[in-house]
Amino acid sequence: MTDRRTRREFMGLTAAGAAGVLTPAWLADPRTAPAIAAAAVTGTAQGAPSTDPDLIVFNAKVYTMDPAAPRAEAFATSGGRFIAVGSTAAIKGLAGKRTQTFDAKQMTIVPGFTDCHNHAGGTTLLYEVLVGNPFEVEFVTIASIIEKLRAKARQVPAGTWVEGYFHDDTKVKDKRLLNVRDLDQVSTEHPVVVRHRGGHTSFYNSKAFELAKVTKDTPNPPGGTFDRDENGALNGRVTDLARSVFNGVGQRPTFTPEQRAQRERDGVAHISKQFARYGLTSVHHEGGDLTAMQEVRARGDLHHRISYEPSGRVLDSMIASGIMSGFGDEWIKFGATSEHTVDGSFSERTMALSIPYPNVQPPYKGNITDTQDELNAWVEKVHRAGIQVNCHANGDVAIDMYLTAFERAQKAAPRPDARPKITHCTLINDDLVRRMKALGAVPAMFTTYAYYNTDKFPFYGEELMKRSMAFRTLLDAGIHAAAGSDFSPGPFAPLMGIQGMVTRTGWDGTTWGANQRISVDEAIRVNTINGAYASREESLKGSITPNKLADFVVLADDPHTVNKEKIKDIQIVRTVVGGTTVHQA
Ligand SMILES: [Zn+2]
Repeated sequence: MTDRRTRREFMGLTAAGAAGVLTPAWLADPRTAPAIAAAAVTGTAQGAPSTDPDLIVFNAKVYTMDPAAPRAEAFATSGGRFIAVGSTAAIKGLAGKRTQTFDAKQMTIVPGFTDCHNHAGGTTLLYEVLVGNPFEVEFVTIASIIEKLRAKARQVPAGTWVEGYFHDDTKVKDKRLLNVRDLDQVSTEHPVVVRHRGGHTSFYNSKAFELAKVTKDTPNPPGGTFDRDENGALNGRVTDLARSVFNGVGQRPTFTPEQRAQRERDGVAHISKQFARYGLTSVHHEGGDLTAMQEVRARGDLHHRISYEPSGRVLDSMIASGIMSGFGDEWIKFGATSEHTVDGSFSERTMALSIPYPNVQPPYKGNITDTQDELNAWVEKVHRAGIQVNCHANGDVAIDMYLTAFERAQKAAPRPDARPKITHCTLINDDLVRRMKALGAVPAMFTTYAYYNTDKFPFYGEELMKRSMAFRTLLDAGIHAAAGSDFSPGPFAPLMGIQGMVTRTGWDGTTWGANQRISVDEAIRVNTINGAYASREESLKGSITPNKLADFVVLADDPHTVNKEKIKDIQIVRTVVGGTTVHQA
């Protein structure tokens, strides 16, 4: 915001919005003219309440993402929904005495963004040692990592784990991998682990290996590796399932149930604020504390809508009690399952490829973390229960396994429009695309990676990158590709994602798989209406359309016209959920 007057107007609006989160008090208004006019403006606003709009926004560049009326200048909201969309002149005519108005002064407005894959680790952000930057590209030194962990080690008794989070192995100024000797400098009395933000690899010190009884002679288990240096000694890096040996060893901090509940609530409230700051109005959560989410919502601190993706005990109890995807309301709703993991990681180079990784010796094709039989059984069980299936499949081998399992489940228990969700769906080929289309699969793909993780792409090379994060190919095939930041692995800023999808150019200036570029409009669609489609909520949200939830974002600049390399820097002026401002710059 640069204009002072506009800023004051914003402040006034926010105060009013905060006072009435759900704005339930519709004034009984004998004048029905506004609602009739609303219907006339759009032709689709039947059922709009016969009352003054709560809010009118005009003089804006509105990109509605509604193919029936893609551009507009203005809209009106009432009761948390859009009730009319159209020209400034027509919409202004709807204003009544109690209507708040907002002159957008030609700023850009798009539907609220949706992130279809997010681990939403608010408690980690608040309470853990962060050895990397969760939100932006930032390089750190290994010395700084050691120093932060030493400070933590001084606060906890010997034998207790010292943990670092948000490490990114290619955002290190030293230009080498963290190793066991670095972490021995933190402590020889505490087990130490540094977790890669990607979630599939971790780095340990000697004490941790000692407690887990892992030596250089320990064989690699299925689905994981204890990495070694050129002399065959443990180098500290451990991948995927091999990390489970550390689960039962060492001491971990304990909390009373009250403390734990408090931390979870704080975490949800904190991450919700961060989402609002970046323009996210709907987020698909990989599990998390459902009680905390409901409590934070009840106290008015939930600023985004949650599609809750269950696993473990919650999923089992849904199946046992007959709760299906879609149960819940506009704020917290059961979506697909949490990602059921079939293979390793894209960014950490453990995903399952049909060909060996370029330039890796001995030849390595990544980690498969499930058998076809187990996968078949799990997919069929969930599908039969009426719950949307969701598997993490990055490499072409894993995607093939998942599609095989789902094709089998559909044969055994046919259900139309089941929308199997493929989390990541990173490396595709023509055969996989054809089968995805036939099944109506919905991929939630990495978006910010194209900007944030270009330093990882040389490990794959241009030939594989041409088929990776393949938005162009999938949209052309008519597949509803959606955005899945995978936070913590990827930053979740939708504008960083849009820039990456449009340019395929990273922070380091290199461009990978330019054949997969999509337009700005398509990239916004991926982050809005396609996200709504992924959770079967496309009739409820994802576009600025009468009767849909009034979730929208005001941008200081238009991503269609700014320098494409600057899309990620556009200021989020305002984030609005259900007609209520939840963030303003
Ligand atoms: Zn994930």
